[in-house]
Amino acid sequence: QPSMASEKEAALAAVPSDSPTIFDKIIKKEIPSKVVYEDDEVLAFRDISPQAPTHIVIIPKVRDGLTGLSKAEERHCHILGRLLYTAKLVAKQEGLEEGFRIVINDGPNGCQSVYHLHVHLLGGRQMNWPPG
Ligand code: 5GP
Repeated sequence: QPSMASEKEAALAAVPSDSPTIFDKIIKKEIPSKVVYEDDEVLAFRDISPQAPTHIVIIPKVRDGLTGLSKAEERHCHILGRLLYTAKLVAKQEGLEEGFRIVINDGPNGCQSVYHLHVHLLGGRQMNWPPG
C-alpha cells in the first residue's frame, strides 16, 4: 500500500471495525515501540508520527469492545479513568509543567485511524485553539 499523504487520509481510509489492530502487536511486543509507561492495565508509548515534541499514545491493554470512545459502556468507567490518570502521570514524567493537550479521536469525523481506544498526550509546544 502506498504511504498515506496525511494523517487525515489515513483516518478516512480506516474502516471502523472490531478486527485486531496494530496496537495488539505493540501490546504483545511483536512490533517495537518506545514504551514510556506500563502497568497491568495500560500501555503508553511514543507516537510513530509525532505532532508535538512530546506525543504519546495511551491505550488499554485489553480492548474489551472499546474500539473507540463512542463504544464506551458503564463497565469501562474504570479503564477510562486509568487512561486519563496515566496521561497525568506521563505528562509529569515528560516534564510538561507548562501544560499539555489530551485528544481522543473518534470515528471518521474525528480522524480516528486505529480502532482500539487511545488517548493522545501532546506537549512541549504551544497548542492552538480551535483544533483543526
Ligand atoms: P488516531 O488517528 O487513531 O487518533 O491515532 C492513531 C495514532 O497511532 C496515530 O497518531 C499514529 O501515528 C499512531 N500509530 C499508528 N501506527 C503506529 C505504530 O505502529 N507505532 C506507533 N508508535 N504509533 C503508531
